[in-house]
Amino acid sequence: MDPPALAEHSLLIIIAVVVAAGGADPDRAALHAARALALGTLPAILFVRSMRSPSQAARRGLRTPLWVPSIIVLSAVLVQATGGATGILSPVAFLAVGAASLGPGSRRVLPWAVLLIVILLAPAVAGWTAPIPLAKGLLFALGVLLCSVVPGRRIDQEREKHERTRARLQELDDEAGGLRVETHNALPALRKQSYDHGDRDRELQAAARELKSDIAQACDLLVSTTSARAASVYRPDGEQGSDRLVAVATAGDDRTLVEEVEARVGIFGAAFKAGTPVCLLSPGPNDRRLVHRMGTARIGAVLALPLVDNERPSGVIVLDFDKEEDVSPACREQAGNVAGFLARLIAQAVDLSALREGMRENHALYEACREVSRHVHLADIAEAVVDSANAFVHLDACALALCNSTHDTMAVVSTRGFDSLSAETTFSIESREGLLAQAVRHGTTIDRPDLVHAHHPPILFGQETGPISGLTSLLVLPVWAPGGEDSPPIGALVVARRHGPNFDEEDADRLEVLLHQVGAAMSNGQLFAEHKTRGITDPMTGLSNHGRFQEVLETKIASSTRTGLKLSLLLIDIDHFKSINDNYGHPMGDEVIKRLAGLLESVGRTGTDLAARYGGEEFCLVLDGTDARGAAVVADRLRDLFREHVFVHSDGQRPKTFHCTMSIGIACYPDDGGHPAQLIERADQALYLSKQNGRDATTCYQALRASA
Ligand code: GH3
Ligand code: MG
Ligand code: MG
Repeated sequence: MDPPALAEHSLLIIIAVVVAAGGADPDRAALHAARALALGTLPAILFVRSMRSPSQAARRGLRTPLWVPSIIVLSAVLVQATGGATGILSPVAFLAVGAASLGPGSRRVLPWAVLLIVILLAPAVAGWTAPIPLAKGLLFALGVLLCSVVPGRRIDQEREKHERTRARLQELDDEAGGLRVETHNALPALRKQSYDHGDRDRELQAAARELKSDIAQACDLLVSTTSARAASVYRPDGEQGSDRLVAVATAGDDRTLVEEVEARVGIFGAAFKAGTPVCLLSPGPNDRRLVHRMGTARIGAVLALPLVDNERPSGVIVLDFDKEEDVSPACREQAGNVAGFLARLIAQAVDLSALREGMRENHALYEACREVSRHVHLADIAEAVVDSANAFVHLDACALALCNSTHDTMAVVSTRGFDSLSAETTFSIESREGLLAQAVRHGTTIDRPDLVHAHHPPILFGQETGPISGLTSLLVLPVWAPGGEDSPPIGALVVARRHGPNFDEEDADRLEVLLHQVGAAMSNGQLFAEHKTRGITDPMTGLSNHGRFQEVLETKIASSTRTGLKLSLLLIDIDHFKSINDNYGHPMGDEVIKRLAGLLESVGRTGTDLAARYGGEEFCLVLDGTDARGAAVVADRLRDLFREHVFVHSDGQRPKTFHCTMSIGIACYPDDGGHPAQLIERADQALYLSKQNGRDATTCYQALRASA
């Protein structure tokens, strides 16, 4: 008990003793009555003070203790006014009962009060002491009962309310405990679960609804177990960086309640700043601190309690009272308990959602890594990166650019969300570089969280693309080949936001994990591509090799069957090639072969026609959608070009020039053959005829058949 309360109690007890001691002299009853009346005014004043103006008393937590001894002293005065009990009975009785009634409530005080009455009155009734008049004895008993039962009842009521609150809080705590166990059990299943954005939003909405319903229950509980007229909980409005609080639950009188308030003003600001409950007594109707009510509401007192768990503020409970004196210490305690409970509950819900969100993001990262490593083609890898990054790091735009082999330019391979940027945009790494080039040149991550306040929007890709405006934060991360930290990065990834919080370390870490996969997938892809190219091309000429030719011819015949279009096969053989080798040497022979390969490539229509080295100095050309007549035109043009070319041979002496010719045999699908082997054989027969006819000639199989 604090010193002022102790002093007031002591005073009251002294008065009780003095009043009761006066009763020991039965002859001066009138004097005693007058003294009692005079003394009685003191407790009456105290009582009235405690009830009417609780501002001081309530601050000191004295209201209920004052209330209780006031009744005791009034009871003493009542007994004293009637002449007092005999001897030392009165002071003893009142001291004992008074002390007892301050204690544990009516149920436990009542038997003691009855026992005291019996002990104190029994000697007189039994005739061991002087007799007590019946009326006085009854009045004494009534006084004792009154001073024990009435305050005891009040204490009982307070205690019951308290117990109810405690029981409900315990219940909610138990439920939270159950939730902890269930969460733990659910974790393995959650890990296996696959997520999408819809699941995530539904989960968050369900958690928010549940939390809101718990908060509403807490408000109901406060209104039903305290004398508050209304209880409301205000929480941040969910906008990043917003200073506004919205009412998420209300119980009791909500007629003049305001839905949204500023977190930093009035009683809300005071509660947030103090971090402890703040009480506003007898506010005027237009008190500017009362931000949650329309001005005209008549309110006796307001108690605002910040919801704070582990220094994390999560809202404010506001209790409105009709009268100042309704803000009792018990009520404060209950509100404090509920505020603590709600703060814990909100923190738990937030942590749980964050945990689920973290798991979802990790799951998405895992899926993204898997997706990236599934691909071997560079374009597919790049697409997988920009497609999947958004699933585990919130972003509004993303682009992946790779360096060329000489490391002086970069090209955008894949992009999302940068409106004006197209894939294949190329920019220089060296001069007046943008942020991607800087990340590659310096081999470091660039974090720009400050773009909202930046004077100029950043240049990301190059001077031609120009600055990219509207971004609030961005991260540029270099992409490395595996084990290639000593060599320069092979490219860079940029992720950017147009609103929302800055990228944090965790975002950067997750993206780095993905980029490790990208580096690995890309070098795998490169190896794969090299291997594949080596398997299908002729190293000397760069044309398709024999195996590839067989493969392609088969698919081309199949597609011609479907489309009904003709297809021609040209078999080409250089005339007297052996003599070129013999006269000018093999290197010169090689040069002639390469020259013809270049010609074949230029004559075939890129993409659809196929030029291949059949073997040695023999080549073939497959012309899509071309009949024998069309193929003969191409063949003659080829022969002309080849014949006209002047080869120069110099072996240290005077350079010698010479010309070469070739012979061509043509077979057409489906006219000359129905399958690849037959078509090749027929073309070969036609070629043979060209040789027979003196070389430097074109023969169609159809003509051969006609002449046969
Ligand atoms: P024909 O007019 O009847 O075709 O006479 P030819 O001399 O061209 O006859 P043949 O097909 O028998 O000769 C092909 C020669 O080409 C044999 C081989 O030594 C030579 N040869 C094959 N591949 C290469 C090559 O890659 N480089 C060089 N320099 N010579 C090659
Ligand atoms: Mg030959
Ligand atoms: Mg030949």
